[in-house]
Amino acid sequence: MSTVMHSPVTPDHVAREKVKILLVDDSAENLLSLEAALEGLGQQIVLAQSGTEALRHLLEQDFAVILLDVKMPELDGFQTAELIRSRRRSRHTPILFLTAYKSDEHLFRGYDMGAVDFLFKPIVPEILRSKVAVFVELTRNTGLLQRQTEVLRSSEQRFRSLLEAAPDAMIISSGHGEINLVNSQAEALFGFERHELIGESIHALVPDWSPGRAERIGSHREVTGRRKDGSEFPAEISVSPLETEEGLLVTSAIRDVTERKKREDQIRELNSNLELRVAERTRELVKSNEALRQSNDDLNQFAYAASHDLQEPLRMVALYSEMLSMKYAARIDQDADQFIRFIVNGAHRMEILLRDLLAYSQAGSAEGPASPVDCATVIEKVLLNLQAAVQENQAQVECETLPVVEAHEIRLIQLFQNLVSNAIKYRRPDPPRVRISAERRDAEWLFSVEDNGIGIRPEYAQQVFGIFKRLHGHTYPGTGIGLAICQRIVERYGGRIWVESSPGLGSKFCFTLPATAQAHPGTAPETMMGRRPPRIDRAGHGAA
Ligand code: ADP
Repeated sequence: MSTVMHSPVTPDHVAREKVKILLVDDSAENLLSLEAALEGLGQQIVLAQSGTEALRHLLEQDFAVILLDVKMPELDGFQTAELIRSRRRSRHTPILFLTAYKSDEHLFRGYDMGAVDFLFKPIVPEILRSKVAVFVELTRNTGLLQRQTEVLRSSEQRFRSLLEAAPDAMIISSGHGEINLVNSQAEALFGFERHELIGESIHALVPDWSPGRAERIGSHREVTGRRKDGSEFPAEISVSPLETEEGLLVTSAIRDVTERKKREDQIRELNSNLELRVAERTRELVKSNEALRQSNDDLNQFAYAASHDLQEPLRMVALYSEMLSMKYAARIDQDADQFIRFIVNGAHRMEILLRDLLAYSQAGSAEGPASPVDCATVIEKVLLNLQAAVQENQAQVECETLPVVEAHEIRLIQLFQNLVSNAIKYRRPDPPRVRISAERRDAEWLFSVEDNGIGIRPEYAQQVFGIFKRLHGHTYPGTGIGLAICQRIVERYGGRIWVESSPGLGSKFCFTLPATAQAHPGTAPETMMGRRPPRIDRAGHGAA
């Protein structure tokens, strides 16, 4: 494994520091000559003139070597050496004895006291220097070694704490899978104690383990983990191989993914349930849509058939009641005259109702693809249709720039004509003023037809769009179908219609149409009993 060194320890670095040499001799003269002989080594030399003084120095400092004179008053060299050795701090400090005696007994005692060597007087400076130099070198090397060991230990500690801090179980092994190091997450995950794992094969924990190739570093793989009790669990492993001097070292980070798998399974199950339910709902929707379309078709067919087929007998009633009135007016009695008038009016009213109903049934019908329609042209046609009403009421109709939209012209004419004619019809005593405008709102156009008429109470703002819904009874003529037709037309193109109004302040009818030309073709039949429904506009002004 790689070790990160934060304080580089190099021989140079140590060489710069001086080591200390202690010289002990009761003769000041000797001391001076010893010092002179050793000066050339360039180290720090400490002098002591007695054993006691030497011990005092040793209390405070460490020395690379001690040169100790044997023959001294009070404490002699051997006694001093004994005391030096008895202290832990200086137990291993090399001692060189300086002596004039070469007797065996002397030497034995000296070695017993822990002497490393003897120097015989008279001292030869070169020999002294070279022997001391050996110890200086030794001390330096020992220092270097100590520091390197410390750095190594602290970086190893750092590495171990890093390993411990990892969220995953970390196992460091050889390329063959022999385990060197594990963190406590690994112990917990596999249920082993550290010492049970070191030296064992990682295959016992992850049978499918492989050292991985360099290009796969950092990539995750799903494997099965095996605990001490033999139970297995799904795991994810990420393997990082590292070439070192001692061969391949592989770091494996292993994570228990049981919970994640469970969640994934749940999500998968939920998803497939959801898919099933969506499919089911879609089927239901399609079915009910189909049913809706069918009943819509049926309703349109019925409305068309009813209004179409009823027109014939109705015309007969109208015709014959008019003939009755022409022939017998004022010839029976007053009551009879009034009854005949009722019949004639009723038949007329019914005619109008049937015509409007027919228009309503057609407003949502499919009639070929929509095409660009210029709303300005539509308004021109509408105003032409409403010319009489405009003049009669002295109405002022103002129209701003209007866009081209994708629709059917006939439907837009119906739409605008109903709104404009209402704006004129539901007037107050002063002449009606109508303003038509349009503005772009994102993907749609917002149209409005605004009047200065009698207005609508807010609580009726929704209801007025209902079929046959009328707010003003017989005061104003009408069938209550116009706004229902408008709503049907707007909605078939995907728009909305509503009214903003308060009584006495006029009304503003607003509706939207898609700006990007997407009509929603209606679902009503093209033909009914082999007949194609004629185009009839609700206001009866012959728009088609
Ligand atoms: P009709 O005009 O044939 O009665 P509509 O469906 O066009 O039927 O309108 C429904 C009702 O809404 C009207 O009877 C009327 O009471 C009210 N209404 C419609 N337009 C206006 C308007 N511009 N101002 C005031 N009331 C209106």
